[in-house]
Amino acid sequence: MTKPQHHEIVVIGAGICGATIANELLERGKSVCIVDAAPSPATACSSHAYAIAHPHIGKGSPRLLRLTRLAFLLAEARWGGEWRRHGIFQPTKKEKTFNQLEVTEHLRSLGLAENIAIALDAHEAEKICGIKQSGVWLPRGASLNLFEASNNLLKAHEGLTCLWNTQVASLEESHGRWSLLNKAKEPILVADKVVVAIAMESKALMSTIGIRLPLKPVRGQLSIFSIKPNTAWVKKLPKVGISGDGYCLPAEKLEDGSYRWMVGSSFDEGEDDLGSRDSSDAFNRKQAQGLVDFSEGDPRDLLKDGDFVGVRCVAGDRLPIIGALVQRPGIYLATALGSRGILWSALAAKLITAQLLEDDFALLTRFGFAADLVAALAPARFFAGALVAPSALGALASNSKPIFPSAPKAK
Ligand SMILES: Cc1cc2nc3c(=O)[nH]c(=O)nc-3n(C[C@H](O)[C@H](O)[C@H](O)COP(=O)(O)OP(=O)(O)OC[C@H]3O[C@@H](n4cnc5c(N)ncnc54)[C@H](O)[C@@H]3O)c2cc1C
Repeated sequence: MTKPQHHEIVVIGAGICGATIANELLERGKSVCIVDAAPSPATACSSHAYAIAHPHIGKGSPRLLRLTRLAFLLAEARWGGEWRRHGIFQPTKKEKTFNQLEVTEHLRSLGLAENIAIALDAHEAEKICGIKQSGVWLPRGASLNLFEASNNLLKAHEGLTCLWNTQVASLEESHGRWSLLNKAKEPILVADKVVVAIAMESKALMSTIGIRLPLKPVRGQLSIFSIKPNTAWVKKLPKVGISGDGYCLPAEKLEDGSYRWMVGSSFDEGEDDLGSRDSSDAFNRKQAQGLVDFSEGDPRDLLKDGDFVGVRCVAGDRLPIIGALVQRPGIYLATALGSRGILWSALAAKLITAQLLEDDFALLTRFGFAADLVAALAPARFFAGALVAPSALGALASNSKPIFPSAPKAK
């Protein structure tokens, strides 16, 4: 048998997460080999063309608030070209009263400047967003076609090797290097450092090196509706994105006068079936009524024109798992992006690259990564009694105090 190729850095998984990390490493002048079971990038959950991004602005979960703010700024900077900035409105929940001053103060306390988040009463929201409901206007909120973004990130580059149709079934460590093995236990590659970005499949792959990850699948279906010009819905269709119970993109007027409108998504915990379901479209029609506050709108006028079905990968505490796996030096995890693939992949690219290249922690702090945020994302938070050793974290090399993983909190 010929000796397996050796690469310093291998990224397993060419969805938005693996593609973004690989691209960041290339930008930092490293050579990268990306391996995927599929014949091309973004064939799984990242085949999603209508994903939205905005910082989380709710109350509670202070770490989640800080992390999404940081990740949003990183994502915006990264995807400037492909970023479709249309603004996103987040209406106040029906059962809650709206106090503009209080909401404004809350937003400022999160470090969100007026050009990121503004509290609007119903009258102002109607003028600015065309929606007569109080809420928060996120003018920089945007959407991204994950499929196109992933493919662009993996365009031919002299430092990039792509290995398609290659499923990694197990990992094996020997003399400080990692062998990537196929189902027949034959080595595919040997690498010094391996980034695992394969969403739900990380669970099976990590179990081959004795690591149990608390991951679960959450199926989701987004509906693409067609709306005829003569229906009552037309006056209610939004010009901006809306994020509340579900989300929708701005409706798009087509040449024949009809409209195309993406509304999602169902949230089917523990399920991983990729088949399209009428019940999920019915659920999305209900969400559509809620999002534009049009309960009297006839759901039958939202004609099905297509859908996207995907399986999100979610961790027990709903935060992504991003960072060096200190129990297995040389392995880096980037998984459990849940419904925030855009934000968390931008953040994973910076954090994993910094750890893998052993940047000084000062560089990460410049991006806004505080040590407690790094620890909140670290794989080690799931292992009882595990100590995140600063030296193993790499990025924390200049921080002499050990960091204990925090109790899972954020939802
Ligand atoms: C209905 C729905 C709506 C969503 N809406 C949004 C949204 O509005 N905004 C947002 O930011 N996010 C959204 N998301 C989430 C987003 O789509 C995901 O978080 C993101 O696509 C996950 O990317 P990933 O790279 O981690 O995984 P994936 O895209 O699933 O990529 C994993 C890759 O790993 C490969 N792979 C798997 N196993 C192996 C193996 N053993 N060996 C080699 N390769 C392997 C696969 O072929 C695949 O290419 C939504 C998801 C769903 C389902």
